[in-house]
This record gives sequence, C-alpha cells and structure tokens, in this order.
Amino acid sequence: MARVAYWESYSAAATDFWMSPDFAALYEFETPNAPAPLAAPRDRDRTDDRDDLQAHYAACWAEGRPFAVETKLLKSDGSQFDCVVHGEPEFDADGQVQRVFGIVRDVTPETSALRQLAESEQRLADFVGTASDWCWESGPDHRLLPHPDSIDGNAALQTVASGGKARWELSCAPEDEGAMALHRADMEAHRAFRDFVYTSIGDDGSRISISTSGKPIFADNGTFLGYRGTASDITQLEVARTLLDQRTRALEEAHRLGKIGTWHHRLDTGRTVWSPDLYQLLGLEPDAFEPTYENTTSYFLGDDAQRLLKLQDRVLRTSKTEATDIQVLHTDGAPRDLAIICKAEIANGQIVGLVGTAQDVTERKEAERRLERLAYTDPLTGLANRALFKRRLAELFEAPLSEHGHTALYLIDLDRFKEVNDSLGHSTGDSLLIHVAGVLRRELDPQAFIARIGGDEFAVLTHSPNPSGEAPIALADRLIARLSVPVELTEGEACIGATIGIALLPEHGATAEKASRNADLALYMAKEAGRGRAQLFEPMYAEAVDQKLDLGRRLRHAVDSGGLETHYQPQIDLKTGRVIGFEALLRWSHPERGPISPSEFIPIAESTGLIVDLGHWVLRDACRQMRDWLDAGLPARSISVNVSPAQIWNGDFEKVVATVLADTGLPPELLCLELTENLFVDHTKQKVSTTLAALSKLGIQLALDDFGSGYSSLGYLTRLPFNRLKIDRSFVDGIATAPEKRKLLGGIIALSHGLGMSVVAEGAELQAEVDLLAAFDCDFVQGYAFSRPVAADQAAVVAAGIEREAERGRERWNARHEGRCSDI
Ligand code: C2E
Ligand code: MG
Ligand code: MG
Repeated sequence: MARVAYWESYSAAATDFWMSPDFAALYEFETPNAPAPLAAPRDRDRTDDRDDLQAHYAACWAEGRPFAVETKLLKSDGSQFDCVVHGEPEFDADGQVQRVFGIVRDVTPETSALRQLAESEQRLADFVGTASDWCWESGPDHRLLPHPDSIDGNAALQTVASGGKARWELSCAPEDEGAMALHRADMEAHRAFRDFVYTSIGDDGSRISISTSGKPIFADNGTFLGYRGTASDITQLEVARTLLDQRTRALEEAHRLGKIGTWHHRLDTGRTVWSPDLYQLLGLEPDAFEPTYENTTSYFLGDDAQRLLKLQDRVLRTSKTEATDIQVLHTDGAPRDLAIICKAEIANGQIVGLVGTAQDVTERKEAERRLERLAYTDPLTGLANRALFKRRLAELFEAPLSEHGHTALYLIDLDRFKEVNDSLGHSTGDSLLIHVAGVLRRELDPQAFIARIGGDEFAVLTHSPNPSGEAPIALADRLIARLSVPVELTEGEACIGATIGIALLPEHGATAEKASRNADLALYMAKEAGRGRAQLFEPMYAEAVDQKLDLGRRLRHAVDSGGLETHYQPQIDLKTGRVIGFEALLRWSHPERGPISPSEFIPIAESTGLIVDLGHWVLRDACRQMRDWLDAGLPARSISVNVSPAQIWNGDFEKVVATVLADTGLPPELLCLELTENLFVDHTKQKVSTTLAALSKLGIQLALDDFGSGYSSLGYLTRLPFNRLKIDRSFVDGIATAPEKRKLLGGIIALSHGLGMSVVAEGAELQAEVDLLAAFDCDFVQGYAFSRPVAADQAAVVAAGIEREAERGRERWNARHEGRCSDI
C-alpha cells in the first residue's frame, strides 16, 4: 500500500481537487485519476483536526502559507490511519497563489511506534516511581543531573535528587569518607561500579543510605559524556543490617562470655556440627576433631553420654525442649560442668534435626557444690549433717528400693556423752565427737553413708545385696564395742558407750518417715532395755513403744498444764514415834487410763528428757507445801524429794535448788534430796561429786535411795556427802523370815551409823518388820505399816494420827512396864 500520495487543487473556490492514484488507493476511493470532491476526504476526517486542516488549506490559498497538519483519516472499512497532510502554494507572476499542491503521508507506523515508546516510557516511569529505586545521570564533570520527577523522601534524599554536585561533593557520613575517595577515583577513571553504598546527610541532619550502581557513557568518538545509573534507598536495610550486626556481635560476645557453644545435628545427613565455641569449651581443635557420638563418648563422665542420648531421643519423639546438666572431661584433664539445652528443629511441620546449646557452668556448679557441702556437712566431724541424711533417705525411697539392694538404717545414740560434755568441758566433747566420727569411718564400709544428726546422735545407711537380720546386729554390736573403749583425751579419760536402733529397708518402713521412725523406735527399745546395746526394729513392740511415746506426750502436757499432784508418805522415827518428815511422791492421773504409777511414767520422763522439768516441778511444789505447813503452825518436818540423775547431769542443779529454797523460804535443813545409785553409772564422777558437795554446802540433806536394789557399792557412801541411807523395800521385804537378810541389814545399819549416816527403811508393811528394824537400831521407817502416800490435805492429819498412835503405844508399854514392875 502506498504511504505517500499526491494531490493538487487549482482554485480556492474549487469544491474538488485532483488526487494521484496513490491517493485514491490510500483513501480507497473508487475514482482514481479524476478530480474528487473535497468533501469526500473531509467526510472521512473524523478528528477534531478537520477544522484545523481546513483552516490551513484556506490560509495557504489566501496567504500563500504552506502547511503540514497531522490528522486521522477513516478508511472505508472504518479503520483509522494517521496521516500528515502537507500543502504548499504555487505563485503566479503576480505573486498570487494559482495552485496549491501537496502530499498526504500515511504516518501510522511512526505514530504507533511513538505511542509504544511513550507507553513504555510511562511504564518505566511508573515502575521507577513506585520502586524505591531511581535513575540518575551525571555529566562529564560528574555533577549529577537533577532528577526530573519529584521523589518522596527526606531532605537528604532531596539533596541527592536535586543534583548539581558530584557525589563526593554531597555531605556524607564521616565514616564513608575513605570509601567515597575510592569511589571518586573510580568515576574519574570512568570505571563502572556496582552497589556503592554511602550515607548522605541533609541540611536538617536527616540521613539516607544509598546503594548505587553506574556505568560511564561515551560518545561514538569515545568522548566521555558522563554516567548513567540507578540508586536505591537502603536506609531501612542498613538500619536492619546494623542492628543484625550488633545483635550478632552481642550474641557472639555473650556466647564467649557465657562460655556457650552451640551444636546442630541434621537427621538427613546424620552429621553433627559444633560451633567454634563448643570446641573451645572442651579444648578441642575444630579441624582435628569430628564430633561423632563415638568420638565424643570418651569425653563424658559417668553415664552422661547415655543420658544425653536418651534426652535427645526424647526431644525427637516429643519435640519438647529439654535441659540437663552433664559433666565432661576437658582435654586439660579437668572435669567441666555443661548445662545443655536441646531443641527439635522443625521445618514444614517435620522434625529435621536437633539444635542445642552447651554452657560451661563449672564455676557456678563448683560454687553450688561448695555451698552444698557447707549446707550438708557437719563442720565439727566433717560427716553429713541431718539435712543431708534426710535427703539421702528420701532419695532412697524415690527409686524402687530393690535397685539399691537392701539397706540398713542405724540410729546411734551415744551414752553418757552429755555428762562428759558437762563435766570435762565442751572442747573435750568436741574431741570425743571427732573421735566417734573417726571410729565410724574406720569401722564402716567406705560406701556407707554416715551422718551426725544431732548433738550425740549419728545415723548410718549401709547397703548390701542381701542382708539378714543378724548381719546388721553384728555390725552394730561391733560399733558399740569400739565406741565403748575409754578414750584418752587431753582433759582426761572419757568413757562413753552407744545404743543403736536398726531398721531394715524396705521391710521396716515403706517411706523415709516410717523408716526413720521405726529405727527411732528400735533405738528407744534399746535404751529401755538398758542402753549399750543394739536393737533391731520389731513390729510387735512398735505399738507398745508408740503407747509409751504417747504417754510421754501426754505427760508433757500434764507438766505444762498443771495435771500433776504430789502425795506425801510419812517417815517415822522408830525411837520417838514422831513423824520426822514426808517423802514427796508424784501422782499423775492419765486422762483416759486414770492414775498411773510413777514406776511407769518416771522412766518415760527420763528417756524423753522431760524428767528435768518434772523434777523441778515436784521440788518446788513440795518445798512450797512444807512452807505452807510451817506457816500454818504445824511442826517442822523434813521433806524428801526424789531427784533423777538427769537433773544433776543437766548442770546447775544446785542453783535450781537454791532458787527454789529462796523463793519458797523453806529452811535448807528441812529439805532432803533422794538420789539413786543410777547417778553413778556414768563416768562423770567429777560433775556428780561437785554438785553433791555444793548441795550439801547449801545445808540440805542428801539421801541415797533404794540402797540394796542395785550395785549397793559402799564406796559412794564413804566418798560422797550423804546424810541418810534409804534401804530398799525389796531388802526389807521378808526380813521377818529370812535370817541372812537380817544379818546384812544389821551390818548395813551399823556401818551407816559408823559413817555418820542415819538409816531409813522403806516399804515396811508389817508390824513385825517395824519391830525388827527397831531392834536393829534402824532410825526411821517409811511404809504402809504406818501410812500409804496421801494427798497434801491429809498428810498433817495422818501424821498427827501416827504420832497419837505412837503416844498411845508408849503409854500402853509404860503401863505394862509399870505393871510388871509393881508385880515384882
Ligand atoms: P521411791 O523413791 O523408792 O519411793 C518409794 C516408793 O515405795 C513409792 O512408790 C511408795 O509409794 C512405795 N512404798 C512406800 N512404802 C511402801 C510399802 O510399804 N509397800 C509398798 N509396796 N510400796 C511402798 P511410788 O510412789 O509408786 O514411787 C515409785 C518410785 O517412783 C519412787 O521410788 C521414785 O523412784 C519414783 N518417784 C516418785 N516420785 C518421784 C519424783 O517426784 N521424782 C523422781 N525422780 N522419782 C519419783
Ligand atoms: Mg525415794
Ligand atoms: Mg526408794
């Protein structure tokens, strides 16, 4: 198809014009090579340019002005084409326009190319406008050309966009100076560059980080024209990168400071990768060590390798993060504690591996261990203390006991330790305890757990695969034998003993509490049976012991809440028949069981330590009672109070007595303290004799009670300041019928008198016995023959009755005697 057509017109007024055949073809006219009506192409011209073209055409005729008008023409099929209509005048000799001719050019291809170009430019502009990137150009002098469009952004960006300066003339961050100098050298050498990053600073101090790339542009002849390039705002990226850098550095630093290493295990490759820090924690070289399970096991202590493996299996199964502490061996040979955290690595809902951290917590663990040692060690003996014993025992019951084989729990109570401590001093007591700890360590298996759980109480746990009842008893007997050997200490010889209660686990207790309670019951049983012996727990006795302990608790309550009473038994002078005094005897009525004999509850009070308070109570009550009687005008009589050895051993007894005397105002000579031979079974003679001397010095009387029921060593009588000897009821009982007893009785009475002591016979129930005692020159008698112990309010009446009876007896005797005389 022709793209250029020719046309001419011969008159301004003509309504038709001539067109070349090409024109006709262009216009798709039917009548080529003939004049065509002007209206025809005009009708085809549908654009607003039609009037424009007409005006130019008219002006060409009128003023001789050539024209070129762009317009669109419709083809017969309705499609449009762009064309340019040119026209120019031809003048005649007068300079008048005689002809106008021209061409019509189909410019559709050009215009569509232009349109495409415009569209693509627009597209580019749109892309560039919406991206944070922009294009830039600089001239041969490197000055940036102003960015043609406005760019959103802070003052720093605007400075860059407004151009007029070389990049290195912009105000930049000081830290960029070096890089900027290199960049300038690149540009001046006309080298292309990529991703040069710098921070530009605006007038207001705002900043923008820019990454830019550019390439030099040269003319065809090689002249340097400048640069073209792109730039992007990477401020946010830079901020994020800086932050990431900081964080990474901080994390690395924290890892280094916190001695944390990390590891990563991938399930697909089965490989484990360690961080450099982890190698460092173990003193290993990353290049020379492959962290496989086989390679690492030898570095674990104990069963920690298996433990860690199990933990990892669990994490893989449950995806739950787990933590544990393990011990490993550093290549320097010293153990290290590592705190391990292990976590499943999950990708797309699947476990793909394990990641973990290992932190060297050796120092903390060491400190903990030191603290624990302090918290769980008895500083004196270096043995475990009570807290650790309890923990150990509890741990035993945490795992199935069968795992530990059989365990025997021994509770060891030292006999007479308190007395040694009180009499020889605390430092001797300390040396003695250290000695005991040494004996236990020596005698026991190194695996045995030994603890000091109280002042003079020790506990031992021994394991054996299959113990019978005898083995623990034999062991305990051996311990008792070793502990009973007198010890030479700087302060003197100390002789103690030991009593041991044993419980076998698990048969004697399914819980730690039960086990230690039953061992305690066994110990109690051993003490009851006379100390210095070992006793295996026996369930049969447990109930009886329980009852005793219950009795002890109730007795304590009675002491505290005034549930006790003192009864009085008269002591009669056999020569005068007068009641010279009373023995104060404790009475306790159990809330459920009713009256309980002191022979039952006194031993309990003694074994629980309650006797001290109990004894003080009686002492005070009896002294006050006698004071009341004196104040009521009754005759002065002595009051005898029983004293348990523990009261003396417990120290300061003489002060207690002095205080009671001072408080009650009882004359000291009216108080008699009855002591039994039990007082001397310990080896603290010093303490006992000084206390007795002090008591004697207070002016009070001392009586040796129950003589004849125990060892009856006369030695005490010669050495200690006793004023009276009380002959035990068992000795008096039957004297009327047993001649050998009578002989002994006579001897004892004579001996006592020889030593300056008076004699009281206890438990005379029969008049025959009273008569015999009188015949043996016994001074005083106390027994049912005269009166049972009676309550305080009856005592005076009973005493008056006894004296009246004696008076009457004397009168009868006198009467008989006088009668006999008169018979003579
Ligand atoms: P004891 O000190 O030898 O007291 C004498 C005991 O013999 C008293 O028993 C008394 O009732 C009993 N008795 C006295 N005459 C006769 C008699 O003719 N026939 C019989 N069968 N018994 C007689 P009681 O009161 O049961 O006291 C028993 C023991 O309990 C006392 O023996 C004493 O050792 C202890 N006791 C009692 N009260 C106290 C106290 O306040 N402190 C301490 N430490 N012990 C006490
Ligand atoms: Mg007595
Ligand atoms: Mg007695």
